[in-house]
This record gives sequence, structure tokens and C-alpha cells, in this order.
Amino acid sequence: MKYKILFIIFAFLFLTSAIIWQMFYYIPQKNIAIKSEGQQKQTIELGDRVFAPILVFHHIKTPSRFLGKLANNFFIDTESFEKIIQVLLKNSYQPVFVSEMATYLKSGEKLPDNLIAITFDDGSEDFYTNAYPILAKYNVKSSVYPIVGAHTDNFLTAEQIVELDKGGLVEFGSHTWSHQYITRLKKEDQYRELKSGKDYLEKLLNKKIETLCYPFGLYDKELEQMALDMGYKIGLKYNYSFWQDQNNLMEMSRLGIMPNVDVIKLLDKMRKE
Ligand SMILES: [Zn+2]
Repeated sequence: MKYKILFIIFAFLFLTSAIIWQMFYYIPQKNIAIKSEGQQKQTIELGDRVFAPILVFHHIKTPSRFLGKLANNFFIDTESFEKIIQVLLKNSYQPVFVSEMATYLKSGEKLPDNLIAITFDDGSEDFYTNAYPILAKYNVKSSVYPIVGAHTDNFLTAEQIVELDKGGLVEFGSHTWSHQYITRLKKEDQYRELKSGKDYLEKLLNKKIETLCYPFGLYDKELEQMALDMGYKIGLKYNYSFWQDQNNLMEMSRLGIMPNVDVIKLLDKMRKE
């Protein structure tokens, strides 16, 4: 009888402690599991398509009256450009360098909301005189791909490139030496175009140049491999998409911004594609 009472007391204590353990230990453990599941969702799976818009601009200035309609598409006047920057910032877009965007994509981390890259092709002088003062006013980063072998009055000078690089708001990348229809060139000429464009900027800025902006957006797998072997890590196309394949940073998508385009509407539209 005595043992029976002791057994009941023991069983009671055992059950009570089991219940208490469930309440105070087991349940919090379960919460931790849910939390870490949530954290995993903050990463992106390899092979995922990622919405990471890269905008392309060429000239920020009023086009000449003598230019045809097609050429005018590459010109956005200063006032409209400032409005684009204002509206992007108002809609919480966060401008980063293309290299920073690529680092996020490579890491598999979830991209911060509304990350965007603003790029300028060819490096015409109006970037220095018209675009940069606006970008600097709003503290906005941009990536510029100058044609370094084109030494004419209308392009950025070596001094301007150095000054912009020192300012910290502009990242430079290669647009080759002289902007040829590169896929149509012989292998050795392709090599020279890629290498001279890279070497020139590396020597001028004393830093590694790892981004290649394909002239006219032309590329093929062999050119990509040649660029990779040379030390390029990012390749920029010129197509109609803001979606990136994180497994293939040698084919990052970009979309050209035409005059009179509602950039926010365009971004919203492309996000759904
Ligand atoms: Zn170009």
C-alpha cells in the first residue's frame, strides 16, 4: 500500500514535469524551428530568376534637331533625367553599383527591396557635365562604361574618369576599346578589344576592372569564355528584361530607358513578366 502511494506520487510528479517541459521548453524550441525556416526564405535558391533592374542611359542632353528619330531615343534631357531620379527615390528604389548587385546575386542572399542599378554606356562627355551633377545632388550611385579608345571631344577625358572615380559615386567598367561589332571580329581582334579596354581603365584607376559591357549588346558563348579567362566576372547585355539569372553573371540583362517613358510603370510591368 505504501509503495502504491509512493508510485502514484512519483507518476504524478513525472507527468507534471513532462507537461511543464512541454510548455516551457518544447514549444519555444518549435518556435525557433519556425523562425529559422523564415530566415531560410531570406535567401534565393540557385537558379532562381531574380528581379534586379539595370537601367541603361546614353546621353543626358537635349538631342540635336538634325538627328533622326531613332538616334533621339538615346537622348534624355537634363530636366527629365532629374525627374526620373526623383521618382525612383520617391518610390524607395535603392541605386547600387552593378558590381554590388552582382555580389548580392552571387551570395544567394535575398536582395534588399527595390535594388536598382543605373548605367551609362559609351561615356559621352554629357555624363560629366549633365548627368553627374544630378546624380551627385541626390547622392545616387551609377556605373559607367566608356569607349576608352575613342579620343574625341565628345567623350570623357582620362582626367574626368579619374575625378569621377575618386568621387566614389561612379563605378567604371569596360565597354571594350573601340566599340566594334565584336562577334563579327576575328578571335585575335576580339581579344585585343576586350583586353585593351580593361587594361586602359585598370592602369588609369589602379583597380581591377571586372565588368564588361558588350558593345551593341553583342555576345556569344566563346566571347563570354574569352572574357572570363581574361578576368572579367560580369557581362552586361542590352535586352528587354530586368530579370537576372544568378548562375550566369556574364549575361546580365539591362533595359534602355527611352525619352518620355514612365520608369515606375515600366518597372512595375517588367516585375510581372
Ligand atoms: Zn555602347
